[in-house]
Amino acid sequence: MSEQFDRNSTILTIDDEQAVRESFHLYLEDFGFTVLEAENGRIGIRLFDELRPDLVLVDLRMPEVDGLQVLDHVVSRSPDTPVLVVSGTGVIDDVIEALHLGAWDYLLKPVQDLSVLLHAVRKNLERSRLTRENRAYQERLEEKVRLRTEELWRANEELHQINRQLRQSEEKYRAIFESLTDVYYQVSLDGTIEEISPSVEANLKRSRDVMLGSCLWDYFAGEEQYERLQEELQKKGRVTDYEVVLRDGEGSVRPCAITATRELSAWGGRIYGVFRDVTERKLAEARIEHQAYHDSLTGLPNRSLLLDRLDLALNRSRRHGYEGALLLIDLDRFKTINDSLGHGVGDKLLCEVAQRLREVLREEDTVSRIGGDEFVVLLSDIGSDTQATARRAQSVAEKIRQALSQPICIRDHELYITPSIGITLFPMQKADADADSVLRHGDTAMYQAKESGRDAIRFFLPAMQSEADQRLLMEKDLRLAISRDQLRLFFQPQIDDEGRVCGAEGLLRWQHPVQGLVPPDRFIPLAEETGLILPIGEWVLRTACGLIARWSGGVLEPLLGHVSVNVSPWQFRQPDFPTQVQHIVAETGADPKRLGLELTEGVVIDNLQDTASKMASFKSMGVRISIDDFGTGYSSLSYLRRLPLDILKIDREFIEEVTSDESHAAIVGTIIAMAEHLGLEVVAEGVETEGQLQFLQQNGCRRYQGYYFSGPLPIEEFERFVIDRQGGAEDLSCA
Ligand code: C2E
Ligand code: CA
Ligand code: CA
Repeated sequence: MSEQFDRNSTILTIDDEQAVRESFHLYLEDFGFTVLEAENGRIGIRLFDELRPDLVLVDLRMPEVDGLQVLDHVVSRSPDTPVLVVSGTGVIDDVIEALHLGAWDYLLKPVQDLSVLLHAVRKNLERSRLTRENRAYQERLEEKVRLRTEELWRANEELHQINRQLRQSEEKYRAIFESLTDVYYQVSLDGTIEEISPSVEANLKRSRDVMLGSCLWDYFAGEEQYERLQEELQKKGRVTDYEVVLRDGEGSVRPCAITATRELSAWGGRIYGVFRDVTERKLAEARIEHQAYHDSLTGLPNRSLLLDRLDLALNRSRRHGYEGALLLIDLDRFKTINDSLGHGVGDKLLCEVAQRLREVLREEDTVSRIGGDEFVVLLSDIGSDTQATARRAQSVAEKIRQALSQPICIRDHELYITPSIGITLFPMQKADADADSVLRHGDTAMYQAKESGRDAIRFFLPAMQSEADQRLLMEKDLRLAISRDQLRLFFQPQIDDEGRVCGAEGLLRWQHPVQGLVPPDRFIPLAEETGLILPIGEWVLRTACGLIARWSGGVLEPLLGHVSVNVSPWQFRQPDFPTQVQHIVAETGADPKRLGLELTEGVVIDNLQDTASKMASFKSMGVRISIDDFGTGYSSLSYLRRLPLDILKIDREFIEEVTSDESHAAIVGTIIAMAEHLGLEVVAEGVETEGQLQFLQQNGCRRYQGYYFSGPLPIEEFERFVIDRQGGAEDLSCA
């Protein structure tokens, strides 16, 4: 390797002593070096410049141009070329200077062992080669570094550029963000607010700083709100213009339209979007809608809203079997008032009429004005059979007529008006009858009312009209029934399992001068609709209590258990009902422990809290409470358990079927077992046959009421019955 290398290397030896030059020359040539000789410094420099040897051997001491000058020349032209100085031992300081100036090595004269020369030449050539390689490597490295640096610099410059642009767009974004009227938000998947625009303070009256980091869902009014939103997001990933209700910082709720986008990523995800308070928009929409569907003078629904609601009511009644009625009301002689006193008065009059109509009707009824002085009342779901519906409709019409017939004072005028009212019921026979035809029928009926001499109420169907006429007559008569002493209280005995009378139920009759004895089913519904049930019910209670007082202490007392009366829902719902009972008991001197009240299930569960408190007052008086017609209604155990009840009366419908229908038998068996479990007495109503009685006895029912023993009896007959029965009966069935 090194021989190979030697062969390619040229060595310049500069020395003024020829012997030294030749010995070097001959020796080195043997090893394959090319050797050049120079006899002085000047020639040496020239040769060096021309031939660029790979190594220079130079004597330090020469005349004219000495070794140090040559050295200086070579080092300055070619620092990688090794210069070896050759010097006598006496001039060691020169050697040191030469090394300072850049000589690579030195040889001391006389060089006796030429292998030292060879070693030095080879060593320095190698060093030179390494130095050059190293430099080349260094240079390549530097070039690379330079290129890389340049690249970096360019990249940096680009980054700066991007940064500048980013900053500009960030500023733009900030500006938009800060001037938004909508609220921009960004939350983590669990709702934690990461960013929210300052507009939230105007929209939600909440501080942005407080909201940051809190949970957005906490501001939703109601969990289902955000759960629905989450569901939508899960399904679609994005929702727009979705309506939610948010709670603001002042404790109010605000309808907001929200847009949300869900973005999932490796580290979770986020939801962002905007929302906006839409209270104003909602109000505007509501205003527009109200204007479109309401009469601007009275604020009542107009014709289109009426038709909409009538449509709904028709559908509902077809589906659920409930019936309803439509009342068309036209004011008699309104035109005369309007023309003579002016539109201002006319308008005020219409508003007053609207007001009175509203006061008379229930919340769920619709009162509308569909023309000048034409009003329409829609009563939906008022009965499940035509009879009841007609009765209700008629009684509402009567109430309206009464309300409108009170004088109306407008500016110094005292005005008297009367209405003509047409009534039609729905759904009609024809299944496809629509809202328009119902309205037309009402109109026809209203014209009939006008023709009949105004201030009248007319049904669309003639048959209904004649029934209505009868009802009207009956109502007039019923009003006088109490004062004319036409009401009678009959008593139906209740029998225990030993055949003795253990109680009685008071049942009302009306001794009508023309129609004879009218059963309660024919007048109680009318009494309830007209409110007459209140004085009538009071009469019943007073009569029953009077009898309890009369019987007490007498021969009948030990024979007779309780005397109960039926209480209408209307009576029971009066807030002061317990007080009324207390007064009647006190006035008549009756022992309240002998009085019982029969209530139907419907009344009891209608308002459980109210019922419970009223029952508690009766309990403290000692008055007993029965649930009447048990089995036909809700028959819910849960309320029975909570109420202070004493007796269950099994409805006669069930008793009737007990021997013929297994399911009725099972129900009755269950009711008896259940009542026993709850510590309640059971009375079976409507016992008519021995078979029924046997079934009841076998199933543990010990009190019976029914024609099998006796129907309801007038007082004297009832008293005789009790006395006759005082011994009881060995065998109940022989009674
Ligand atoms: P209710 O409370 O279920 O009264 C029992 C009804 O069944 C009575 O009819 C009675 O005569 C009848 N009845 C008794 N035993 C038998 C029998 O073996 N077979 C049959 N088929 N029927 C029997 P009434 O007296 O016509 O009374 C009917 C409804 O009128 C009563 O039903 C009650 O809801 C109501 N009522 C009666 N009097 C009054 C009262 O003073 N005030 C109130 N608010 N309602 C009353
Ligand atoms: Ca009853
Ligand atoms: Ca009953």
